[in-house]
Amino acid sequence: MTTNVQEMFGSLLLDKKIVASLTAMGFEEPSPIQEQTIPLVLEGSDVIGQAQTGTGKTAAFGIPVVQSITDHRHIQALIMAPTRELAIQVAEEIGKIGRTSKIKALPVYGGQPIDRQIRALRSGVQIVIGTPGRLIDHINRKTIKLDHIKFLVLDEADEMLDMGFVDDMEEIMKNLPAERQTLLFSATMPRPILSLTKKYMKAPKNVTISKEELTVPLIDQYYFETKDKIEGLCRLLDAEIDGKLIIFCRTKKGVDDLAIALGSRGYMAEGLHGDLSQTQRDRVMKKFRDGTADILIATDVAARGIDIDNITHVINFDIPQDPESYVHRIGRTGRAGNTGVAMTFITPREFRQLKLIERTTKTKITRRQLPTTANVIE
Ligand code: ADP
Ligand code: MG
Repeated sequence: MTTNVQEMFGSLLLDKKIVASLTAMGFEEPSPIQEQTIPLVLEGSDVIGQAQTGTGKTAAFGIPVVQSITDHRHIQALIMAPTRELAIQVAEEIGKIGRTSKIKALPVYGGQPIDRQIRALRSGVQIVIGTPGRLIDHINRKTIKLDHIKFLVLDEADEMLDMGFVDDMEEIMKNLPAERQTLLFSATMPRPILSLTKKYMKAPKNVTISKEELTVPLIDQYYFETKDKIEGLCRLLDAEIDGKLIIFCRTKKGVDDLAIALGSRGYMAEGLHGDLSQTQRDRVMKKFRDGTADILIATDVAARGIDIDNITHVINFDIPQDPESYVHRIGRTGRAGNTGVAMTFITPREFRQLKLIERTTKTKITRRQLPTTANVIE
């Protein structure tokens, strides 16, 4: 297998150590965005990478950035991410890529004591991944020094825009050394992001992976029409779902209500939304990752960027507001070549919304009947 991985990633001129790390991570071949982006970054270009959720954008910048770290004494790359969960996730993935080369990546985010981060920063890290506010805080305190920064990465730029971080992004871009590479990754390219790239990037090369190369075709998509969604959901859970699943609700209250409803019926479900404290969120995510809970109930915002392997089912308990969030949601399953199932509950009045999603995403969402109680697995 090692030789195989070497062959597949070898054409990208990667260090042996990095290939060894990728092998340990179970990567066998680069994804399309990785294949096209990595050589451009290694040759020194600014790059704008656009591809849907789940296409491997983290490693698309993580691999060449790790390979470009030349000494172990200074921070040489700053990566901005929209949420704490995402910052942690990116740091973990980059940590794994850099493991064999002993490159360290540290996440910094609001809600964690800054002193702890300052100590960690002093202990020698080369790559820092942060949410915008906390990164700026460290830069102002000079606990992150910019003198040796060679890379700035803006990850999930469209989500940062949605969350109101555009000024923070600009502030960081303005203050960094001019001699640097800027990489920007996003699923979509709204106008304000485009203007940022025009203003602060040097002759950026564009890599766009079109929707045809998405993982969406690997996801089986169904819908159920019912007036009693909780009853329908329980029947599905009893009859056929055996794996990790995420259930999406439209509102925080919807998440809480459903978590209580499922909990009182004996399901191992945990709710995740923006009103939880960081400690509570961490606890929920830990339970879900380690299997103590196999059902995660979330709002769109809370689920952003969360990357958990082996999610077998995504359930839209409430139909998403727009086709784009439908794609975002179902992209939580069927990642990296795995198959997945997406199920959407609708009430009769929501049929038109479902059709709009089908038309816009050019996919087929098949109607199904709910299992009867006789199908229940004992
Ligand atoms: P994106 O940022 O585009 O949403 P991620 O970078 O989070 O996607 O990657 C999605 C998942 O795919 C992660 O679990 C990641 O480890 C995995 N992955 C990325 N690249 C590869 C690859 N070349 N081979 C196998 N798995 C990969
Ligand atoms: Mg990503």
